[in-house]
Amino acid sequence: MPRVEIPSPFHLSPGQLRRLRRRLLAWFAANGRDMPWRRSRRPYPILVSEIMLQQTQVERVEPKWRAFLKAFPSLNRLAQAPRRDVIVLWDGLGYNLRAVRLHLLAQRISRERHGRLPRTLEELRALPGVGPYTASALACFAFGVDTPVVDTNIERVLRRLFAADPSDPDAPITKRRGATLAAALLPAGRSRDWNLALMDLGAQVCAPRQPRCGACPLAAWCTARAAFAAPRRQAGSQPRSPSTPGGPRRLSRRPAVRFENSNRYYRGRIVKLLRSLAPHESVPLSQLGRRIKADFTVADRAWLGKELRKMAREGLLEVRRKNGRSHVAMPS
Ligand code: SF4
Repeated sequence: MPRVEIPSPFHLSPGQLRRLRRRLLAWFAANGRDMPWRRSRRPYPILVSEIMLQQTQVERVEPKWRAFLKAFPSLNRLAQAPRRDVIVLWDGLGYNLRAVRLHLLAQRISRERHGRLPRTLEELRALPGVGPYTASALACFAFGVDTPVVDTNIERVLRRLFAADPSDPDAPITKRRGATLAAALLPAGRSRDWNLALMDLGAQVCAPRQPRCGACPLAAWCTARAAFAAPRRQAGSQPRSPSTPGGPRRLSRRPAVRFENSNRYYRGRIVKLLRSLAPHESVPLSQLGRRIKADFTVADRAWLGKELRKMAREGLLEVRRKNGRSHVAMPS
């Protein structure tokens, strides 16, 4: 019988591959997560959900997604809205730059394509601010293109399922290998359900720390299953990767910077402060430092000036002259 060449320790026959797909799709039909954007086939709501979900959890995205679509029901309406309103509505999602990029994208598509997103993977990839993952997700979920979508959940399932070293199922794999595996498994004509099924399996069963292999529809084909069927841990001990006897995999030797000391934290504080202002209000630059950092000193001025210039370039704020003094405000 001819075998399907999958670049992994496992080579599945066409029959095995059919069974594997059938098993996962049946599991998805019974266990797939219900999310409002999954009920939509309109590209714009799917685009908004994909941008919001990039760095924010599903539970936090859901109410924000509804509010955003109520305020800006179409790409053209979003394009016409003041930047300030878009950033204000982004409150609670974090990574505010995504709001600016989404707004810029809407303006461009409104201007150049009458508010209609392109339909092909190549055109979607060429859009500013749309990375390879978002382009694939849009092509698949909004336009029904048969293409793999590899997010962190899917990548984890694939690397475990076809682990090159079964004793180290969480060894990182390259993006290219993830894409190759995902493409080899993709059932033509069922890409949408298939990608969502893998995503949900990664989120609900093949969890990062403690996969529930006993409940996994793919366990029969999985290289990593034996490694995770380790002896029960003693109460109170930390779960760890099967191949890292010394503890969790070490990712970096650089000392971690506390979030409260990071530039991201202070950028968030600046946007939060500006959000709290009425549309015509601004903050004198001379007061801004103390209002976002309790121990702000003269020595912090250069750092703050650099961050403000960067944020102004990114479109997150404006620095204006008013009565001979510099003021910081939301973009108009
Ligand atoms: S058997 Fe376990 S490790 Fe393998 S895919 Fe399923 S949950 Fe993940």
